[in-house]
Amino acid sequence: MTEIIRLDNITYKYDDEDQRPALQDVSFSINKGEWVAIIGPNGSGKSTLAKTINGLIDPDSGEVKVGGLMLNEKNVWSIREMVGMVFQNPDNQFVGSTVQDDVAFGLENLGIPRDEMIDRVRNALDKVNMLEFAEREPARLSGGQKQRVAIAGIVALRPAIMILDEATSMLDPQGREEVLRTVKEVKEEEHLSVLSITHDIDEAAAATRILVMKDGKMIQEGSPETIFSYGEQLVEMGLDLPFP
Ligand code: ADP
Ligand code: MG
Repeated sequence: MTEIIRLDNITYKYDDEDQRPALQDVSFSINKGEWVAIIGPNGSGKSTLAKTINGLIDPDSGEVKVGGLMLNEKNVWSIREMVGMVFQNPDNQFVGSTVQDDVAFGLENLGIPRDEMIDRVRNALDKVNMLEFAEREPARLSGGQKQRVAIAGIVALRPAIMILDEATSMLDPQGREEVLRTVKEVKEEEHLSVLSITHDIDEAAAATRILVMKDGKMIQEGSPETIFSYGEQLVEMGLDLPFP
């Protein structure tokens, strides 16, 4: 199995003296083609963990490897190309004035030639079923459509892994369903690995493996069936998943 992500003994504390570390001795790995979900109460360190994977946060100790490359100053830009991130708020991630400009933005930064860029943008929009909205202003889309455009922007860059940090939590049930279906489709078609941080039961159930975080630590790991079988115990840990 090829490891896409490997974290070894990551510890990180924000510059705030009397706080406990946001991450304490966290280790895990994600293999190529795997879909890992991270669940855990608010403040348990999930977003901080996501940010250590693409170098937005530099841990106090421990090692991060992406695609076999050690995350350090020299490799941070190569690693960012391998890691696509979708965030919670659909309105905070647009830079283009049309959907297609927005998806093209990352490719322009990489200096991809114009013809290839146009191809990749159209192809990515087609994959998320948003090609018909290519010329629309992002502001005039629904929340679910906005998140699908964000996913197209990632697909166009052909990363190794897509990280979704509560990407469906601000959406209505229809938007949530659309985005989840899109993630499932692009994961298969693009052979992507996925890391999804979520409070949504359907999204967690789509994963091959679930990790549970609490107080900056990984406290459980297992298949969705195993983790869901803990039922009330997880609710007692402060998780707000509506268990079946
Ligand atoms: P989650 O995503 O699981 O809700 P976070 O990773 O956002 O958790 O936060 C983990 C801990 O780090 C919390 O105690 C939070 O208050 C703290 N924290 C998060 N961001 C910052 C920051 N920018 N400065 C200081 N503390 C922070
Ligand atoms: Mg968070």
